[in-house]
Amino acid sequence: MHIIDRIYIDGAFVKPTGDQWAPLFNPATEEQIGTVRLADAVDANRAVAAAKRAFPAFSHTTKEERIDMLNRLYAAVSARTDDLTCAMREEYGAPSCFIDFSAPRAGTVFLDMARTLKDYEFRRRAGSADVEMRPSGVAVAITPWNSNYSFICGKLSAAIAAGATMVIKPSEMSALQTQVITECLHAAGLSNGIFNIVTGYGNVVGAALTTHPDVSKITFTGSTATGRSIVQAAAPTMKRVTMELGGKSPSIILDDADLDIAIPQVLAAGFRNSGQACIAGTRILTPQSRFGEIEERLSHAVRRFRAGNPADEQVQVGPMVSQKQWDRVQSYIRLGQEEGARLLAGGEGRPEGLHRGWFVQPTIFTGVRNDMRIAREEIFGPVLSLISYHDEADAISIANDTEYGLQAHVFSSDIERAKRIANQIEAGRVFINDAPHDPLAPFGGFKQSGFGREFGVFGLEAFLEPRAVLS
Ligand code: NDP
Repeated sequence: MHIIDRIYIDGAFVKPTGDQWAPLFNPATEEQIGTVRLADAVDANRAVAAAKRAFPAFSHTTKEERIDMLNRLYAAVSARTDDLTCAMREEYGAPSCFIDFSAPRAGTVFLDMARTLKDYEFRRRAGSADVEMRPSGVAVAITPWNSNYSFICGKLSAAIAAGATMVIKPSEMSALQTQVITECLHAAGLSNGIFNIVTGYGNVVGAALTTHPDVSKITFTGSTATGRSIVQAAAPTMKRVTMELGGKSPSIILDDADLDIAIPQVLAAGFRNSGQACIAGTRILTPQSRFGEIEERLSHAVRRFRAGNPADEQVQVGPMVSQKQWDRVQSYIRLGQEEGARLLAGGEGRPEGLHRGWFVQPTIFTGVRNDMRIAREEIFGPVLSLISYHDEADAISIANDTEYGLQAHVFSSDIERAKRIANQIEAGRVFINDAPHDPLAPFGGFKQSGFGREFGVFGLEAFLEPRAVLS
């Protein structure tokens, strides 16, 4: 049993004043594997006070000093990639195909940000004014359970680069991963108070942080519903907010797409992180002229997406994070059938041969209309919808007919055609064919997928305020 009874404030692992405990589970076995003692509002206030004390000195550090800190953070996090892997597998059930990307990347985000910082000009002229980009003050990061240490490191790297101090409130469901990543960050030897990590409930610690008068910036990743309430909490004190919220991303297969490239990519995009991903490509837009062929290719290829023990290298889809999440995904699989969609693969219940664990069958619905709830709401599980379109204009219209706008994929043999389509998609990022992730490209959403951007210079500037001096 893991007992996690410390939070991290002012450079030290300390006992929370909060005395509530939450259980930790292994989602692949449903067994309790530990408990975590939760912070409360008093702890949240102590963390903000520490970040506030650290801010004046930290905000005046030089670019070179902060690049050095980012390099140290990279080294400290990268030294524990194996521990991060074990914690994520045990507590979250992520399969290797996800961890192999996310565990090494936890460290490299600090290097990516150091690169951005090196070339960034904090002072510039605008007309007759001297403009200086100043750090925003004490920042708060609120992170979810679906990619715990990646979100923590990504948000912290931008704050460090900007010279802002930070209080981080991760999900209590990820306490094991938070413990390992906090030890890594501590080992980098930054001055006390620059970052503080307080695990606790959103309605307790989150609420205290998002209304605190000494906090000037909030960066949040999570559901659109919680994002909305955080924006409201932040409004009275005009905190700056970056919101990275839900998605219902389209994968548009054009009629000239090479299906040998498109089909594996479409499934990888849809089942990414076991479907528990805001960026998951959950709506597969298919030309009517090739509908039968694509249906057949998908129903064949989906068999390779095995759900099961995350320690098995062949497994591509791990369990849902909790019973609640499993129930939620099951309810959507039921709903899809009630709405008249047809199961092309998967369905309700656990995959064959699995009797325990919050496993879901990788599921594809066909005959889906874009006005069905399974095509409109974020399911956050491995459940995809195949939707047909008549022509390019129809594809674009369906792709944009959503309240979200986080990411999209376009598949075509003609790059110029794909780019023309991409330019008409209302989404923060559009990938063409098998284009790789680029850590310098902005990340964030249009519409109710949020606002503000992360990564690269866009992520750095989210923690900066311009001050103009005119003489
Ligand atoms: P939430 O959005 O509720 O949680 C994300 C984070 O916000 C957690 O740390 C949570 O803390 C915190 N939080 C919750 N309420 C508040 C509040 N009032 N003030 C400040 N912080 C708060 O996600 P859930 O875990 O409840 O998941 C529900 C659904 O959200 C999923 O099914 C999925 O659709 C979506 N989701 C989207 C994610 C994304 O990456 N875009 C990530 C996770 C979920 P606590 O855990 O204590 O509640």
